[in-house]
Amino acid sequence: DVRTDDVRIDDLPIRDELRGKSPYGAPQLDVPVQLNTNENPYPLPEPLVERIAERVREAARGLNRYPDRDAVELRTELARYLTRTTGYEVGAADVWAANGSNEVLQQLLQTFGGPGRLAIGFEPSYSMHGLIARGTGTGWISGPRGEDFTIDVDAAARAIARHRPDVVFITSPNNPTGTAVEAETVLALYEAAQAAKPSLVVVDEAYVEFSHRPSLLPLLQGRPHLVISRTMSKAFGAAGLRLGYLAAHPAVVDAVQLVRLPYHLSAVTQATALAALEHTDTLLGYVEQLKSERDRLVAELRAIGYEVTESDANFVQFGRFPDAHTAWRKILDRGVLVRDNGVPGWLRVTAGTPEENDAFLDAVRALKKEQS
Ligand code: PMP
Repeated sequence: DVRTDDVRIDDLPIRDELRGKSPYGAPQLDVPVQLNTNENPYPLPEPLVERIAERVREAARGLNRYPDRDAVELRTELARYLTRTTGYEVGAADVWAANGSNEVLQQLLQTFGGPGRLAIGFEPSYSMHGLIARGTGTGWISGPRGEDFTIDVDAAARAIARHRPDVVFITSPNNPTGTAVEAETVLALYEAAQAAKPSLVVVDEAYVEFSHRPSLLPLLQGRPHLVISRTMSKAFGAAGLRLGYLAAHPAVVDAVQLVRLPYHLSAVTQATALAALEHTDTLLGYVEQLKSERDRLVAELRAIGYEVTESDANFVQFGRFPDAHTAWRKILDRGVLVRDNGVPGWLRVTAGTPEENDAFLDAVRALKKEQS
């Protein structure tokens, strides 16, 4: 009887590569201090909430119609934001947007990856790169990263030459380590990738607004196989909005049109994102506060006696623990949820409000006492 509850996923005729796998996602636990998913701790300011309501009301009057399929107004404003904050001029034709940068990355892999093709990332890194590769039938190569979590150019270039991937992922700042990647490294890997295939090089800059260093966006100049991926989930404090975007040569933007679903970005999403972009300066003010809190976390964790990986993101990787999962559990027992990304010996904490960070520091200070 197919209506009984004992039909499990593996009883279904699913694709072989999905058998026995579990879905991506951090535990969503109801804990007082949640510093586990790299969210921005600040709710949107009230004037922006009002502006969203206004723009969504306006959009609601036209919901009987499909939205602007090409999201031209939104792409124009995203391009304006990129130009203003990086000094490198891009226009709407160089920008594409989707429901979170995860969807942007999925569209890129649907277009440039797929069955019989390969993508590479330098791990530990954002595990969704490999999972989206799997979901799109793209083979995945786990490339090397150094002991200090930087990318060793020679080792990485050798991996590219050997595997000849179709898509190369470079995450800067990297998640979960916080490590920024030098422009020279990106240039060297771009050259290696072009010599090997040529392939598409995707720089995932989800956290770049928190970096001590400038965006790698200007590297787009003269490099039609380079893509910069961005999101409004972190710096704009709008993880719930689901709005990610890319900047690349207009031909890349044209290419992803071949796989995007028609009307993928709802009119409500477009209106909300446009409202948020009107308040960019206020939101970037919160980013400045978070950067100084991030720097404080690094300094205080070191003062307590932890090892910390240099961070250019809104989170900090700290350790080392003989057993990271036990440490994760003990921090949780003190009411603070951090992230165990499966990097042996290390945990990751997102920079929260000063109060949340104090609660976290109290918890790890107590843990240090207990363990020494
Ligand atoms: N890239 C990186 C490196 C990330 O850490 C994340 C979010 N955790 C994303 C992309 C995806 O973010 P979103 O889909 O919310 O834009």
